[in-house]
Amino acid sequence: MINERMFGLGDEPSAIRELFSYGLKRKAEIGADKVFDFSIGNPSVPAPEALKRAVLELMEEPPCALHGYTPASGDPAVKQVVADSIRRRFGIEATPGNIYMTAGAAAAIAISLSAVTKPGDEVIVPSPFFPEYGVWIETAGCTRIEVPTLVPSFQLDVEAIEAAITERTSAIIINSPNNPVGAVYTREVLERLADMLERKQVELGHQIFIVCDEPYREITYGCEVPYVPCLYANTIVCYSYSKSMSLPGERIGYVYVSDRMTNAHEVSLAVAGAGRALGYICAPVLMQRAIAKCIDEPSNVEAYRENRRLLTEGLSELGYEYVQPDGAFYLWVKAFEDDAQAFSDRAKRFELLLVPSDSFGVGGWVRISYCVAPEVITGAMPGFKALMESYRQE
Ligand code: PLP
Repeated sequence: MINERMFGLGDEPSAIRELFSYGLKRKAEIGADKVFDFSIGNPSVPAPEALKRAVLELMEEPPCALHGYTPASGDPAVKQVVADSIRRRFGIEATPGNIYMTAGAAAAIAISLSAVTKPGDEVIVPSPFFPEYGVWIETAGCTRIEVPTLVPSFQLDVEAIEAAITERTSAIIINSPNNPVGAVYTREVLERLADMLERKQVELGHQIFIVCDEPYREITYGCEVPYVPCLYANTIVCYSYSKSMSLPGERIGYVYVSDRMTNAHEVSLAVAGAGRALGYICAPVLMQRAIAKCIDEPSNVEAYRENRRLLTEGLSELGYEYVQPDGAFYLWVKAFEDDAQAFSDRAKRFELLLVPSDSFGVGGWVRISYCVAPEVITGAMPGFKALMESYRQE
C-alpha cells in the first residue's frame, strides 16, 4: 500500500517543472536557440569566483574531517560566521544557537512550519504565492488561508490579513522580494503588519509567527528590504544562497530564530526537532564551509537589472501590461484572457514558455523568469509581437 497523497504529489509535477521539462524536449526537437524558455528561476549569473576558490581550498583539507557529519544543526564554526554576518548587516543579536543550517529555503520553510504549527492550524499566505508553500503547509497538517495582495502594487493587504486571522492562525508566510510578482514590501507596510499581529496576539492569547522566506533578499534594484526580525519579534527567517550566490543545486541555506522572541530557546529546539523529524539534518557540509568562507560576497545583480530593462522596454513597446519589479528576477505580465493556462498554451505556439498564474493561486497572469541570457529576451520579442497580434485578430 502506498500513501495516496505522496503518490499524487509525485505523479503531478509542479506547473513550473512541467513547462521546464517541455522546454528541454522542445529544444531537442527544434534547436535550443528557437525556444524562449522563461519557465524556471535558475540564476543566469555564475556563482562568485570567491566561492570557487573556497571550494578548491577546502578540497585540500583532510577528507574524512571535511566530508564528515556535522552536528544536526550545522558546523558550529559556520553558524558562528552566519550569526556574525546577521549581526553586522542588520544590527540585531545573533549567536550560533539561533541558526539551523538547511538544504536551501525549501527545507528551512518546511522545518519552520512544522516547528511552530500543529495539525489543524491555519497558515496565511498572501497571494499570488510560491506554489510549494501549499505542499509544505499541508505536510504540517495545516490549512492554507490565501489572502490576495493589493493590485496593482502587490503590497500586503494588512486589513485583509487581519480579517483572515482566527484562533487557529499560527503563522503567515511572507516573501519579499517576491516570487512571482517582484514586489518588495515597504517598511511602512511591514510595520503596519507587525503592529496588527502584536495586537492580534494579545487578543487571541497565542503567538502568531511570521515565516519570512527570503531567497531574493540581495536581488533588488535599489529599494530597501527591511529585516523583519527587527520589526516583529516572532519572526523566523528562512534564508537561502540559491539565488544570491547562484547555488540552487547545491542546497544550502539556514533558519534564523531571533532572541527577541520571548521563547526563542524553545522555538530553536522545535526547529531542531522538526529538522530531525523531517530528516533535514546536517546540511550539505562542503557548501556550509564554502559559504562561510565568502559569507558577505556581494551578489552580482547587474545582469538581472539589464535583463529587466530589455524585457520591460520590449514589452512596453508592444503594449503588454506588467508589474514593474523592484526585486527578484520575475516579471508578472497580464494575460490577454482570464484563462492563464490557455494564454500560456497559445504562447507555446510562438515558442514562448510562460508560467500560467493559476499555480500561484490567481488567474489571468503569467510569470516570466528573466534570469536568462539577454539573447533569449531579444530573440523572444518577435514571438511576443505575434502572440499579441494573434489576440488582436480575434
Ligand atoms: N521560496 C521562493 C519564493 C522561491 O522562489 C524558491 C525557489 O525558487 C524557494 C523558496 C526555494 O528555494 P531553495 O532553492 O533555496 O530551496
